[in-house]
Amino acid sequence: MYLFFVIASPQLFWTCYNIKKLTVNLLDSRSVIGDLGWVAYPKNGWEEIGEVDENYAPIHTYQVCKVMEQNQNNWLQTNFILNQGAQRVFLELKFTLRDCNSLPGGLGTCKETFNVYYYETNDEERRNIRESQYTKIDTIAADESFTELDLGDRVMKLNTEVRDLCPLSKKGFYLAFQDLGACIALVSVRVFYKKCPFVVRNLALFPDTITGPDSAQLLEVSGTCVNNSVADELPRMYCSAEGEWLVPIGRCMCQAGHEEVNGSCQVCKPGFYRSALQTKSCSKCPPRSFTKVEASTSCQCEQGYYRTESDPSNMACTTPSPITVVKKGKTAKNSISVSWQEPDRPNGIILEYEIKYFEKDQETSYTIIKSKETDVLVDGLKPSSAYIFQIRARTSAGYGGFSRRFEFETSPYSVAASSDQGQVPIIAVAVTVAIILIALVTGFLMSDCCHTDSCAETLLFRRRCGYSKAKQDPDEEKMHFHNGHIKFPAVRTYIDPHTYEDPNQAVHEFAKEIDVSCITIERVIGAGEFGEVCSGLLRLPGKREIPVAIKTLKAGYTEKQRRDFLGEASIMGQFDHPNIIHLKGVVTKSKPVMIITEYMENGSLDTFLKKNDGQFTVIQLVGMLRGIASGMRYLSEMGYVHRDLAARNILVNSNLVCKVSDFGLSRVLEDDPEAAYTTRGGKIPIRWTAPEAIAYRKFTSASDVWSYGIVMWEVMSYGERPYWQMSNQDVIKAVEENYRLPGPMDCPTALYHLMMDCWQKDRNSRPKFEEIVSILDKLIRNPSSLKGLVNPSNRVSNLLVEHGSPEGCVFRSVEEWLEAIKMGRYTELFMERGYTSLDVVTQMTLE
Ligand code: AMP
Repeated sequence: MYLFFVIASPQLFWTCYNIKKLTVNLLDSRSVIGDLGWVAYPKNGWEEIGEVDENYAPIHTYQVCKVMEQNQNNWLQTNFILNQGAQRVFLELKFTLRDCNSLPGGLGTCKETFNVYYYETNDEERRNIRESQYTKIDTIAADESFTELDLGDRVMKLNTEVRDLCPLSKKGFYLAFQDLGACIALVSVRVFYKKCPFVVRNLALFPDTITGPDSAQLLEVSGTCVNNSVADELPRMYCSAEGEWLVPIGRCMCQAGHEEVNGSCQVCKPGFYRSALQTKSCSKCPPRSFTKVEASTSCQCEQGYYRTESDPSNMACTTPSPITVVKKGKTAKNSISVSWQEPDRPNGIILEYEIKYFEKDQETSYTIIKSKETDVLVDGLKPSSAYIFQIRARTSAGYGGFSRRFEFETSPYSVAASSDQGQVPIIAVAVTVAIILIALVTGFLMSDCCHTDSCAETLLFRRRCGYSKAKQDPDEEKMHFHNGHIKFPAVRTYIDPHTYEDPNQAVHEFAKEIDVSCITIERVIGAGEFGEVCSGLLRLPGKREIPVAIKTLKAGYTEKQRRDFLGEASIMGQFDHPNIIHLKGVVTKSKPVMIITEYMENGSLDTFLKKNDGQFTVIQLVGMLRGIASGMRYLSEMGYVHRDLAARNILVNSNLVCKVSDFGLSRVLEDDPEAAYTTRGGKIPIRWTAPEAIAYRKFTSASDVWSYGIVMWEVMSYGERPYWQMSNQDVIKAVEENYRLPGPMDCPTALYHLMMDCWQKDRNSRPKFEEIVSILDKLIRNPSSLKGLVNPSNRVSNLLVEHGSPEGCVFRSVEEWLEAIKMGRYTELFMERGYTSLDVVTQMTLE
C-alpha cells in the first residue's frame, strides 16, 4: 500500500566517505548480500522488503506501517554484532517516516517515533531475549516526515540519526527496534567504531588505536622507533575520541651510520658516514679519508694521513707536519711567552697555529689559542706552576699532528709583589667599594657588567671586565675545554643531558665532585621535589669557607629519581652568569647525594616580595627585573628554554641580585605545584605559560618571554597571584579572548607597555630578551621615563624615593655599611687609612 524508495543526496555519501577513513564498520546493512536474517516478532509486524538505492543497487529495508491498528508492539532484532574490542560504538540509522497528519483516519493510533534498544552479551547464540532485558538507547523521531504529496513527487525525506553505545565490556550485542504504531522504513543500519589509524610520526610507529569509551578521553599511546633509530625522548601521542592523533611528544633519531629519508632510517652509503646523533644526514668522508662499507659512523684516514684522537670525525686527515722546536721566552708569575719554528715541510701554506696548554696533570681541562704568528704570550696562569704546551699547524689540507709535549713553569711570586701584599686588602676592598657604589648609584643594576653596553661605557667596568680583551692579540682566539667539551663562553650552546647515553657521564662532565667532608650542613631552609634544601658552608681545599645551599636526595630514591635530581646539576653546571644560580658541585660518591649551589640569602622572589610589600623604590624593582632579563638573555643565547619562569623560581641574594633557578630535567614540570594537566596531556603552569605552549607545547624563548612578562607583573605587584583566584580554565579562555592582566597599582606605564608586549599573541611580535634588557637599561638611565603610572594609588609615588632595602641601604656610618656588605672585617683598615665617614667613602676613586 505504501511504497518506499530512496533518493539519497550525494552530500550524505560524501560525509560517509570521509568518516570511513577513521571508522571501522561492525555492521552495514547495505553491504549485506542476501538475507539479513534479522528476527521480527510478531511475525506480521516488521517485514523485509527489497529496494534499490540511488544507483539501483539492491538494498534491504525493514518496514512496518500498522498505523490504523490499536496496541502495536512490533520488534525487530538484529544478528549478534561483535564489538571487536571497541568500548564505544556508534549506531547510524537511515529511515523514512510517514507524517501522521497526512493519514486519513489514522490520527488516533498513528505514531511518529520508534525506539532502539541493545542487549550486551558474551553469548553469540542467545536469540530469545525478553523485552525487559534490553537497555533502551533512545526514542528516535524523524527530522522530516513525508506525506502523500511527497510520494507523488517521488521525493523521499531520508532521516539520518547517530547514537553511541558506551561503555561496552562484553564480546558483542544485539540491537532491537521497537515500533508502537508508526509508518517506518529502516533503509540502512550501520554500526561502527572510531580509531586513530596507524601512523609514522617523528620516526616512531603508532599502531591502530581504538578510541576510548569516553567522548572526552585522550588515550596516551607510546610509539616504537622505526628500524635503526633510537628514542631521543620517548615518543608519545594522544588518540582523541574522534580518532585523531594529537600532540606528538618526543621523537626517535636515526642511529649513527644511518640517516632519515622519508620517515625511515637508511644506511649511509660507502664513502659517507654519520657519527653523532646531532647531525641530520650522512656526510661525505672528509678529505683524505674513506669508508668502503655501509652504515659507517666514521671514515678511516688514507695511508700516510692521520687524525688525532681528539680531532672531530668531520676533520680532514692530514700528513703530519709536526712542529719540533718550541721555546720558552719571557716568563712571569702569571704568564709565559712561547715561540716555535715553522715545520720543515708544512704541506701547504700555514693558515694558523693551535697552541694547546694545560696545567701539568690537569689534562682534562685545557685551553686552545689560535694564532697566525709563531709566538704567543699565554697569560692568566698560576704562579710557580708547571704547564704543558703542544702546538700544531693548520694548512688547507687540515691540521698536522700536535708537537710533543713541552713543559714550562711560571715564576714564583716576586719579593716586590709580596711587599705589596699589605696593600692588597685595601685595594680589593676599594675596588669592591667602587663597584658597589656604582651599583648603588645605578640601582644594583650592573650585576652582569660584561654584557652591559651601559657598563662598557664606565671606565671602572671596562677595566674590570675588559682587560683580557685589551691584552689579547686580535689574531688570537682562545677556547677553553673541559673533558673534550668546549667550556663557555667560547661557544655558548646548551647540551641536553638526555643526549648522553650515561647520565652519570653528563653530571661529571658539567659538575665538580665535592668530597662530603668539605660540607657543613647548618639548617633546613626549604623543601625541594627530591628532598630537603639546607643551608650550610663549603670549604674547598685552599679556599675560604663560603655559605652554600645544599639540595639533598631523600633516601629510598629510584634510579630515575637520582638521574632527574642530578639532571638539574648537569644543566646548571653549563651556565656561568651572574643572574643564573651558580653550581658549586655535586656529592655523588657518598649518601645522601647532594647538589651544592651558591646561597641566596633572601630565598625565592615571590615570598620575598610578599614579605616586603611596598618597600622598594621603582628603580630597585626595575633593577631586579633587569637582572632576571639578563639571566634569561644568557639562557636564550645558550639555546636553553626554561619553560617554568615564574617569581617562585627566582632566588634573591642579600644584595637584591635576582638569579634564575629551577632547571629540572623533567621539563614536564612535575615538580611545580602550579603546574596543572592540560586536556592535551602534559603538565603546565597555566598562568605563566604562553598560549601556544599550552595549546600545542610550542615552548621557545618567545614563550619564556611571555612568562617573563608575568614575572614583571608579579614583581610590580609585590608577589600578587597572576589572575588572582580565576580557575586555570578561565585563564586559558580569557587569554584566548585577548584579555590581559591589568597594570599593577603604581606601575610605570612604560613597564606595563613592556609587559603587554611580552603577551602578544603572535610569538614573533614579542620582544627578545636582548631587547628587554636594553629597554630596561634605557628606563634605568632615564628614571623620569618611569614617572607616568598606569594605576596610581593615593600614596606618594615611591619612584626614586629611597626607602632603604630590608638590609638597610641607608647607612649611618662606614662601619654599618661595611657590615651590611659583609666586609666588616675591613673597618679598622678603612679607619686607619682615613675613610672615617661615608662622605669620604663616596669621594673614593679607583686609584
Ligand atoms: P627548589 O627545589 O629549587 O624549588 O628549592 C626549594 C626551596 O629551597 C626554594 O623555594 C628556596 O626557598 C630554597 N632554596 C633553593 N635553593 C636555594 C638557594 N640556592 N639559596 C637559598 N634558598 C634556596
